[in-house]
Amino acid sequence: MENKKYVSGGEFMVNDPEAKNIFIPEDFDEEQLMIAETCRDFINTEVMPNLDKIDAQQEGIAKELLNKSGELGLLGISIPEEYGGFGQSFVTSMLASEVMGTGYSFAVTYSCHTGIGSMPILYFGNDQQKEKYLPALASGELIGAYCLTEPGAGSDANSGKTKATLSEDGKYYLLNGQKMWITNAGFADLFIVFAKIDNDRVLSAFIVERTFPGIKFNPEEKKMGIKGSSTRQIFFEDCKVPVENLLWGRGKGFRIALNILHMGRIKLGGNVIGAAKLAVEQSVNYANDRKQFGQFISSFGLIKQKLAQQVIKTFTAESAVYRASRNVDEFIEAHIGTITREEAIVKAFEEYAVEAAILKVYGSEALDYIVDEGVQIHGGMGYSSEMPVERGYRDSRINRIFEGTNEINRLVTIDTLHKKGTKKDFPLYERGEEVISTLKNISGCCSSR
Ligand SMILES: Cc1cc2nc3c(=O)[nH]c(=O)nc-3n(C[C@H](O)[C@H](O)[C@H](O)COP(=O)(O)OP(=O)(O)OC[C@H]3O[C@@H](n4cnc5c(N)ncnc54)[C@H](O)[C@@H]3O)c2cc1C
Repeated sequence: MENKKYVSGGEFMVNDPEAKNIFIPEDFDEEQLMIAETCRDFINTEVMPNLDKIDAQQEGIAKELLNKSGELGLLGISIPEEYGGFGQSFVTSMLASEVMGTGYSFAVTYSCHTGIGSMPILYFGNDQQKEKYLPALASGELIGAYCLTEPGAGSDANSGKTKATLSEDGKYYLLNGQKMWITNAGFADLFIVFAKIDNDRVLSAFIVERTFPGIKFNPEEKKMGIKGSSTRQIFFEDCKVPVENLLWGRGKGFRIALNILHMGRIKLGGNVIGAAKLAVEQSVNYANDRKQFGQFISSFGLIKQKLAQQVIKTFTAESAVYRASRNVDEFIEAHIGTITREEAIVKAFEEYAVEAAILKVYGSEALDYIVDEGVQIHGGMGYSSEMPVERGYRDSRINRIFEGTNEINRLVTIDTLHKKGTKKDFPLYERGEEVISTLKNISGCCSSR
């Protein structure tokens, strides 16, 4: 029998791993903690003092911050050393995501670039594409964005109408169509664009440079929160994309899109832990500072209950995120040798689709609860834009919408588990039968009345 060195995706439903095999934040080593410290210093010195300028989208500020984080190596954490990055493990990149997640709008700018904007080229690019683009993405010389959503194609992402047709001389694809809600669109240099070639039923993916002819941008969207994150519509009108910029192969775009979304969902789980810890800290500080009825409001039972709930949800999200992230690393390590590292990473994201969807749903809903109670603990001051909890409250809401809405992620969780159970990846239904028969044996339970 195969001596499996990793926990299968979804297996948590039926098997209890040994405690020693579960990764917890206390297991981070010195190098990982140093990377986290670099992220924290960057957020505290470059992002926090500039939050208002970032949210006002002051000309050039987002790109300047990305460039500075690139100088510190923070854009290349997941990019291999041969392409100018640090080639760190997935769990390390998650620790960076957590700390960068405290950066309000900038967290979205950063995650978009380092995740959905850059990783498609690392995971699915050929050698020439990687050599051409990855070093510049790792340094911040080029900034990435990801263009899947269209006005008529959101949750149903494969229904997009953007078309790619081969030019008569066979040297270019001509892209025509419209993309919507594109993060970093205001200043990105490189776009991963999904389109259907001719009358294909499935998407293909293309690497599109901002300077290619035939791209137009709408003005910035006016949003409820993450106001400092650039979001625009993009129009492609006979946009000339060299054939060598087709990513991975014709008709493989939907698989790219799905796997990048699985990755993005786990990363979002990391981001929300950072934002949650910050909101808890703000809530505790305020509760220990504000007095009513002659005492600190933190002494009131109802306020204590809110703080406790905030901490419980943060701890739960943190535990689940790092446990699943280590599962990803162990899966990758177990498969390198038979396949390349990048292929193993892609397989890992497919493997842990259930965990990714759960982390996204739980993390985003936990954060919404935490920031909401954060506002409540601040009373009227929580409603004032002078207080950071107000920004945190507005910025949190997007997490339930992008990277697949929480409704879609709930469907992914159940559909994927069902498929794994049916394929007998692990004895999901057999275990269910056992539970039912145990219940039936309990006297008086499950009677037909
Ligand atoms: C600020 C922001 C940044 C974004 N950044 C990017 C980006 O960088 N790149 C990119 O490609 N996209 C991006 N998006 C798009 C985002 O991923 C989509 O908005 C999201 O996938 C939902 O699509 P939609 O808005 O079309 O909603 P719809 O798909 O129209 O959904 C509307 C409602 O119906 C529900 N629904 C849909 N289908 C089902 C179903 N089968 N069962 C039950 N309920 C269902 C949804 O959950 C939702 O509640 C961004 C969006 C925003 C707001």
